[in-house]
Amino acid sequence: MRLSKYFIPTIKENPSEAHIISHTLMLRSGMIRQSSAGIYVWLPTGLIVMNKIANIVREEQNRAGAIEILMPTIQPAELWQKSGRYDAYGKEMLRITDRSNREMLYGPTNEEMITDLFKNTVKSYKQLPLNLYHIQWKFRDEVRPRFGIMRGREFLMKDNYSFDLDFEGAKESYNKMYVAYLRTFARLGLTAIPVRADAGAIGGDLSHEFQILAETGESTLYYDKDIENFDLADLKADIDDATVAKLRSYYAMEEEKHDADNCSVAPENLKRAKGIEVGHIFYFGKKYSESMGAKITGPDGNEVDVEMGSYGIGVSRLVGALIEANHDENGIVWPEEVAPYKVGIINLRFKDENCSAACDSLYSKLLDHGVEVLYDDRDAGAGTKFADMDLIGLPWQIIIGPKGLDKGAYELKNRRTGERTEHSVKEILEKLG
Ligand code: ATP
Ligand code: MG
Repeated sequence: MRLSKYFIPTIKENPSEAHIISHTLMLRSGMIRQSSAGIYVWLPTGLIVMNKIANIVREEQNRAGAIEILMPTIQPAELWQKSGRYDAYGKEMLRITDRSNREMLYGPTNEEMITDLFKNTVKSYKQLPLNLYHIQWKFRDEVRPRFGIMRGREFLMKDNYSFDLDFEGAKESYNKMYVAYLRTFARLGLTAIPVRADAGAIGGDLSHEFQILAETGESTLYYDKDIENFDLADLKADIDDATVAKLRSYYAMEEEKHDADNCSVAPENLKRAKGIEVGHIFYFGKKYSESMGAKITGPDGNEVDVEMGSYGIGVSRLVGALIEANHDENGIVWPEEVAPYKVGIINLRFKDENCSAACDSLYSKLLDHGVEVLYDDRDAGAGTKFADMDLIGLPWQIIIGPKGLDKGAYELKNRRTGERTEHSVKEILEKLG
């Protein structure tokens, strides 16, 4: 992409409305613009990153056997009246009336809709287990929308729902998602701690929140510091049962549920830290199938209410969480997996014909090699170009000016380490292609 023909409206100063670094950097690097409180326009690079995250989430869901569908954002109130949540949900729900005076709502989550879909399509235990997901916008009229897209009112979520004949099956579905979540966050290079979200209740330990440690997080956790010996961000490969069992044996609990007097962790091992909730998995049994009449015929011919669980990932929140975990004083430092482009070319001397020709040529070669490249071909000063490229945060930069070209050298900069090395075109193509 040529920056001169693109759309990245960067901002020089720190916007006064932003109170955490990810919000500041998303605004400054031109990824988002606010439309109204907690509602954002996603600009090109913001959208690319969000889509890349969504794709990793999708791949891991598919790998775990979940099946993608797409449910609408607008739901009939009737479904929520059946489950009993229509009144209970309160002011966080955006309620809408259509032209025929029918009560509708903008979905904050989809348990009701999916239970209704299941009820109308699945009749027998033979069609189970079933796990359906979608990646769809949600609306929650949060009391305090803040921190940009981290706590938005409109936000993108991956949510899925498992259906099983019995508790054993439901537990298996839950465990599959537990592993899928570990893999998803590991692929994003994030250390997400699985935190017990429900101490007792029906599901035993079948409710976990996945929390990323960050000083700007809104939750406070207590956890056994031995969990840090697990390189959670490095769990991409095989996550076997032993690893899962070990992880689940560690204590990690939200502050509200932490009981200091009855905590099993030795005081010297107990750590308190702030976290960002990026995912939540949850077994809830027959709560919705009972109230909404989602029954299946079991092997003995009798009808039973189907066992369910739900699993959410904050896809748009992850964009912010990733920036909280990957930035320095000059801007964002994208991990390669989700970077909007892999490499940026900086043409230091736009008016120099040789220099521009060399940049143009390298740009086409990189494109031919399938490299995602952002080419700063603007008629702007070197200082502006350096600052913007650091701010946008692509993993690699190629800096091209007349001095280097005289020696046939192209400068390659690693955004994360700051290391600069000189290369021929051939070497650059080998390294990045
Ligand atoms: P929170 O405690 O942060 O309000 P929640 O418990 O309401 O989260 P869930 O209903 O479990 O969230 O939703 C699943 C995921 O969606 C969360 O783990 C989070 O990553 C994301 N999420 C929830 N609310 C928001 C929001 N207002 N803005 C952006 N992402 C959100
Ligand atoms: Mg909430």
